[in-house]
Amino acid sequence: MSSNMAWVTLATNDSYSLGALVLAHSLKTAKTVHKLAILITPGVTTSMKQQIEAVFDDVKVVDVLDSKDQTHLALMCRPELGVTFTKLHCWTLTNYEKCVFLDADTLVLQNCDELFEREELSAAPDPGWPDCFNSGVFVYKPSQETFGQLLEFARTRGSFDGGDQGLLNMYFKEWAHTDISKHLSFTYNVVWSSTYSYLPALKQFGQNMKIIHFIAASKPWLQSFNTETRVVTPTSGGTGLQTLLQFWWDLFCQYVHPSLS
Ligand code: UDP
Ligand code: MN
Repeated sequence: MSSNMAWVTLATNDSYSLGALVLAHSLKTAKTVHKLAILITPGVTTSMKQQIEAVFDDVKVVDVLDSKDQTHLALMCRPELGVTFTKLHCWTLTNYEKCVFLDADTLVLQNCDELFEREELSAAPDPGWPDCFNSGVFVYKPSQETFGQLLEFARTRGSFDGGDQGLLNMYFKEWAHTDISKHLSFTYNVVWSSTYSYLPALKQFGQNMKIIHFIAASKPWLQSFNTETRVVTPTSGGTGLQTLLQFWWDLFCQYVHPSLS
């Protein structure tokens, strides 16, 4: 029953791969019943790929630049959209009926398998402009047809922010006003940097957080970590961030670091 649904993430290099590995262990710790899939590019080293293969059920290598297909042609017109095009490949995982995409800089704090009950395209509002969804967490249905349409859309229209979020918000523009069931709760994609602008809400709802998203400079693997005390010191942040970063580092120390050579 569960085998035709998967969590999907993306890593184009070894540092994002560390994020993806910790994310995978957070999903396992939260006892998901669904498969774990990942898109990687040749920018991920062979030894890191082996680590990934040991943890994910499904590893798909996508090589955007060398392919002589539709993707290649689209990318020629829009070279600035490199990583974005790679993310769009998640629609090609058609061996799954439904998927939830998670950025490699997200961390699952509680089981959220109920997300698979939602339809394409479900996502949470972006705190920067809440009429847009944040593209770090979204429910979608793999389809070659949708993939082709997204590429064509990217080629002809581009992306208003130069990334996948602008593109996906233009393609799925009805998200903003059509169907409230496609608006996920902010607790499924807590964009950290925004929370300290509304501290009372964080205090009231913080314990409901299901997925935390370390956008921009708050990436866990870029924080300073003391290998003796095993304590992380956030370079910036605010109330509560330390605890969440510590959870990321605890998973890293327990499951990821021991198998890295
Ligand atoms: N990503 C990647 N390599 C890169 C940049 C991004 O693999 O060099 C992937 C990764 O899954 C990442 C996602 O694309 O989580 C979106 O980028 P990022 O999370 O850095 O953007 P932000 O959420 O900070 O806007
Ligand atoms: Mn992100």
